[in-house]
Amino acid sequence: MELLAPSDYSARLTEAVAALPAVDVAVTDCLGLVLAEPVIARASLPGFDNSAMDGYAVRAQDVPDAGTVLPVAGVVPAGDTRRNRLEPGTAWQIMTGAPVPDGADTVVQVELTDGGTDEVRFERAAEPGVSIRRAGEDVSAGDEVLAAGTRIAARHVPVLVAAGSATVRVIPRPKVAVISTGDELRSVGDELAYGQIIDTNAPMLAALARQAGFEVVHIGRSGDTAEAVLAAVEQASDAGADAIITTGGVSAGAFEPLKAAFEGGSEITFSKVAMQPGKPQGFGIIGDRMPLFALPGNPVSSLVSFVMFVAPALRTMAGRTTDIAWLSARVTKGWRTSPGRAQIARVRLSQNDHGLGVAPSGGPGSHLMGGLAHADALAWIDASVDEVTAGDEVRVVSLEGEFA
Ligand code: AMP
Ligand code: MG
Repeated sequence: MELLAPSDYSARLTEAVAALPAVDVAVTDCLGLVLAEPVIARASLPGFDNSAMDGYAVRAQDVPDAGTVLPVAGVVPAGDTRRNRLEPGTAWQIMTGAPVPDGADTVVQVELTDGGTDEVRFERAAEPGVSIRRAGEDVSAGDEVLAAGTRIAARHVPVLVAAGSATVRVIPRPKVAVISTGDELRSVGDELAYGQIIDTNAPMLAALARQAGFEVVHIGRSGDTAEAVLAAVEQASDAGADAIITTGGVSAGAFEPLKAAFEGGSEITFSKVAMQPGKPQGFGIIGDRMPLFALPGNPVSSLVSFVMFVAPALRTMAGRTTDIAWLSARVTKGWRTSPGRAQIARVRLSQNDHGLGVAPSGGPGSHLMGGLAHADALAWIDASVDEVTAGDEVRVVSLEGEFA
């Protein structure tokens, strides 16, 4: 079997999947989702001329000098739905955000007055056009306020909501099912017989999927037979998943149930990727457009495979970027790597005067979960490198965020 470059393998996966069909979602529920259509403002913002200050709405010409006194016609609070009129030679007391009475051309802030309620004394001459937020100065009705393809972040929410639509058309969050395979696996809390271990990958992959911005709809487990795997896959599809992630059963042992279930068929392709960890991989589209990612069983291999291959493909399904958020970091302490395959090393990041520093974290074994917990990033070391030395610049991706 040929050894594929990791970038070629990743491209194969992202090209095989497509953005999910768009749906309408309440504007208040679309954080992190990608707009399938532009958002057009239904109303202008602000919707009416309103005061930028607590103060007095007047005609500037009625306050020509310091010491001018005007009678106060009334108070306009924020939320006043009356259409007030300013008679020449009077003032309205007005609050921030309240509609400016017709006929007023300026607002004098309260700090520049005596704050009177029956009549008000101004400390200086008024200038026209001060402290009024004009209707439509921010957004005009009909304007495109957000482009299709925008991923909704908190900063987009005010304009999205104020634009006036209760729902928006977005690409939904892919729903993911996770299945771990292995006769040795038991769930957390179960008694372990000699030779048995706790299934760490299903909970880890569910957490990775959620951390990366996806929804987890099913967590299953199967034994080491083809029939058991096929039954678990069917359960996952029935749970409404858009994609299935399995772990284990893809390498070269005697009991490789993913291979037993799918090898030789046309749906799943088993590959070897020039990467350490994470060499054996399986991927394909099963049934009616269901991507299935078959990851190796060692916990670290599974995690690395998720970050490198699964997450970019799921992001494609979510209408997001395929790119991984690589940062540049300088090695502070070196380590040896095996040549011939790209090494995805567990590392710890540090901040120093020159930027990001990176040092190895724990050993390279793919079963080392204690060490994995101390790493906060993965470093990419090219296949051609067999020793990383202090001062080298390497690419790293944080394990703390969404990986993108
Ligand atoms: P496999 O890829 O199925 O041959 O598994 C490789 C190694 O990973 C074996 O030591 C398995 O026991 C271990 N392993 C497989 N699946 C899991 C899992 N879900 N949780 C923890 N360890 C696993
Ligand atoms: Mg196994």
